[in-house]
Amino acid sequence: KKIHEVTVDDLVEGIVNGNRVMLAQAITLVESNASRHFEKAQKIIEHLLQKENTSIRIGITGVPGAGKSTFIDAFGTYLTNNGYKVAVLAVDPSSQVSKGSIMGDKTRMERLSKDPNAFIRPSPSGGNLGGVSRKTRETIFLCEAAGYNVILVETMGVGQGEFVVRDMVDFFLLLVLTGAGDELQTMKKGIMELPDLVVVNKADGDNLHKANVAKRDYNTILHFLHSYTKGWTTRALTASAVQETGIDEIWKVIQDFEIKTKTSSVFDQVRSEQQRKWLYTLVEQELYKVFYDHPSIKQKLPILEEAIVKGEKTVSASAVNLLEAFFNKAKEF
Ligand code: GDP
Repeated sequence: KKIHEVTVDDLVEGIVNGNRVMLAQAITLVESNASRHFEKAQKIIEHLLQKENTSIRIGITGVPGAGKSTFIDAFGTYLTNNGYKVAVLAVDPSSQVSKGSIMGDKTRMERLSKDPNAFIRPSPSGGNLGGVSRKTRETIFLCEAAGYNVILVETMGVGQGEFVVRDMVDFFLLLVLTGAGDELQTMKKGIMELPDLVVVNKADGDNLHKANVAKRDYNTILHFLHSYTKGWTTRALTASAVQETGIDEIWKVIQDFEIKTKTSSVFDQVRSEQQRKWLYTLVEQELYKVFYDHPSIKQKLPILEEAIVKGEKTVSASAVNLLEAFFNKAKEF
């Protein structure tokens, strides 16, 4: 069936039965910018809301070249070998720019892309980071409804992507290379306070010693920082995505995290808080857009800006002016 012929009930049933084609079609609706697709997608999600959810959502970030796709291929395969169903999604703010990398690309994860228990979806393109974020959140939800119980969300350790992903996952893993000092300089301020685990990748061959030194350095740095997750102490480990060493240790840490935070209720608290925050963010984004897209604001704004620069009008009075113009026009509808 063509996508517009498939009903909401078909899609809901297909997803619940773990049908990958139906799942992919529903995600396409979620990612579409057409309003009728949006409405259909929301109906599907609403139907699936009550479904019990026992997944763990793991964010994975790191600068380009840190080994994210190699690691996800190894880690994801380890998980499917252990009976889990793994979905790999991506948040790539740079894919809006034409030459940006398409993260979550299947060709970057060779084994996992052929794995019947893995589902890979590249970053939604187009729109702003807010739009990409909404689409990824809803896609996480659809994957969970389809029975995927480990959700890996990949993003790059540059720009704002990692902050956005932090707010949609339970556990956040930062993949780094040796030379903690150098790397910290290139990372955005505040990023070291996001992870629940730091993994020094490429701990193999001649690099092994340096990786262990980096692990120690990171542990020293982490000691002085706040952990994002209440009651949890973030630490650093080494791993080799190529040799597949350290993978089971990482999974043990994540399982330990899940048990501890579920026992303390922090796990559920964080998820609820993320939902609440997302609601406010969506409303703010929508208001912002409606406001600045309004014709009378578009017309008035440059005039007022100039008056402010020339010292003819105060900033506060101008803001009041704009809001009044907006609400007066809005009332006319
Ligand atoms: P991404 O840009 O973060 O997705 O990084 P990639 O997974 O594409 O890896 C970048 C390069 O590092 C590739 O040439 C990989 O083969 C290599 N690489 C990734 N993980 C390891 C590792 O554990 N050990 C070694 N020696 N090389 C690795």
